Amino acid sequence: MFFWQGGVQPGLHAAFTDSAAGNLALNLGRPSTAAGNRARVETAMGVAPGSLRFMTQVHSSTVAEVPAGSGNWSPPEADALLSPDGSQALAVLVADCVPVVLADRSGPATGVVHAGRRGVLTGIVPNAVAGLRAHGARELTAWIGPSVCGRCYEVPANMRDEVAAAVPASYAQTLHGTPALDLPAAVRQQLLDAGVDVAAVPAGSCTLENPRLFSHRREPGAGRLAGLVWRT
Ligand SMILES: [Zn+2]
Repeated sequence: MFFWQGGVQPGLHAAFTDSAAGNLALNLGRPSTAAGNRARVETAMGVAPGSLRFMTQVHSSTVAEVPAGSGNWSPPEADALLSPDGSQALAVLVADCVPVVLADRSGPATGVVHAGRRGVLTGIVPNAVAGLRAHGARELTAWIGPSVCGRCYEVPANMRDEVAAAVPASYAQTLHGTPALDLPAAVRQQLLDAGVDVAAVPAGSCTLENPRLFSHRREPGAGRLAGLVWRT
């Protein structure tokens, strides 16, 4: 169910699902299957059925917020989702892109971010950090979840140059020596540059290499795993 779970203080939980949790994206496969999988994840998290908040991810730089007690919730088009008062359980879905979970140790705010190549270029991670800071977050911790690693994400040389010009830590090469992008390293650099503490990345977290994880590149359409943050 959970590839990894943990937290830095009592009542604050961060987790990433694995393929045993099943596909969690409603637009892949049968929606009823994904809905059932979401309900099982909510049970494992110990949150109310239907309370987990997702977003419609569109590779944008848009940050959305979930208000407290949002009864008639419909997912916004966004690539970062914040709970300013920490009352909402949040989810981000990925299969090779980088899922980031954020939480304030000095206050209630939490957030999740979907960072692919475009999100790294357009600054979705710093945007999410700024959004949390605007709600008073002072001591942010981030967890960078499973994604395709820098040895596996081969790209054309001009694409590598474009991203590395904006975020130098993204510059990488594959095991065969061809141009690649290291998106988790890029996200880590963006978090550190924004003054965020980065918690340890679980070992074996390359989605392409680890068959316990969903990878769009290895098996398109098979499913999406979730990055989760919630308070109890
Ligand atoms: Zn890899």
